[in-house]
Amino acid sequence: MTTSSDSLFPHLETRAVHAGMEGLAESGSHVPPIDLSTTNPLPSVEAGGDSYENLATGGELIPGDSAVYQRLWQPGVARFERALADLEGTEESVAFASGMAALTACLMAAVAAGTPHIVAVRPLYGGTDHVLATGLVGTSVTWAGADSIAASIRPDTGLVVLETPANPTLELVDIADAVRQAGTVPVLVDNTFASPVLQRPVEHGARLILHSATKYLGGHGDVMGGVVATDDEWARRLRGLRALTGGLLHPFAAYLLHRGLRTLPLRVRAQQETASELARRLQEHPAVHRVLYPGLPGQDPLGLIGRQLEGPGSLISVDLGDYESAVRFTEACRLVTHAVSLGGVDSLVQHPASLTHRPVEAEAKPHAGVVRISIGLEHIDDLTEDLMRALDAVGAERSSAGRAGASVMTQSFA
Ligand SMILES: *Cc1c(COP(=O)(O)O)cnc(C)c1O
Repeated sequence: MTTSSDSLFPHLETRAVHAGMEGLAESGSHVPPIDLSTTNPLPSVEAGGDSYENLATGGELIPGDSAVYQRLWQPGVARFERALADLEGTEESVAFASGMAALTACLMAAVAAGTPHIVAVRPLYGGTDHVLATGLVGTSVTWAGADSIAASIRPDTGLVVLETPANPTLELVDIADAVRQAGTVPVLVDNTFASPVLQRPVEHGARLILHSATKYLGGHGDVMGGVVATDDEWARRLRGLRALTGGLLHPFAAYLLHRGLRTLPLRVRAQQETASELARRLQEHPAVHRVLYPGLPGQDPLGLIGRQLEGPGSLISVDLGDYESAVRFTEACRLVTHAVSLGGVDSLVQHPASLTHRPVEAEAKPHAGVVRISIGLEHIDDLTEDLMRALDAVGAERSSAGRAGASVMTQSFA
């Protein structure tokens, strides 16, 4: 297996800049060209048929062969895939139109293999939870705790699905322990929140590493994509599935995602530094019941930071106690935009229970008082000012409601 250490350069920062750029200088280019061809000339009937056979069954393009058709192979997408695999330390990666298309392909692969039962550890991204709960693509699910994965495995289990840090509670799951419990069943880790800068699940035995590339990998809120980093066998399976079902990444999206990778380590570390300090500052505000952030004391009970996760990342969830306070805070933010998504250069805030986790069943839905903030690259003092002012708005409403309540009580006893 290819691992990070087999890579051209030992350091992630260097690989982020140079991975997937091979052969460009020879062709006179400095950055990857965007080839929009939907079809490719065929040298002969027989050679065309051979190329089709190879690519439609999930093979990689053989040098000198025709790529045949964009649904089968696209050179810019393949460059991005090589770069992401390099950063994750996997043999290959396979890119899709979105994170959900990537997840769906993995689930369909499990169904196609005759192992449609999925063991999933909550909390998960709302869309992932919804697809699993509904069985939309023919899977069935057993919801397991991080400690009860082994007990949930059946002969027809095709995948164990988990997310760490999890969305939106930012709880951490021990990947190596999940892999041990799963035995021979492949473990899929949604690594969207950590990015390969902070966590490389393959090093802990995960076989499928999923990203919503829409988030940190792109990093600028202007491109959607998904990707699964994995071994040769699974990559072939997923490419074959993609060629048939068509959840393709567009060449321009591949270009933007590949460009995003070049600044990924820098962005992730800078955003994390700001978030770590902000989490501490937010804790001080009286309107805050609890800040959910794995970097705060007591919030990494398994000691995974340092062992599995390089740092706590740049997502912070804040528990404001109840729905009304969460709404007031979210709507009072100004610099921080009220919008779904995360991982970009600008900070965003959203209310998971009404938005990203809306379809999640009641017993697994996030608390209505929880608000999730994705910290961007703005100056920490500007972010502090905005968030503290929004928290003041919660406190002000609360104390005036308290006073009104008190006066009603006084009256009724008068
Ligand atoms: C956004 C997200 C997804 C879904 O990705 P899309 O690109 O929106 O399809 C999956 N997992 C996590 C953790 C996410 O944040």
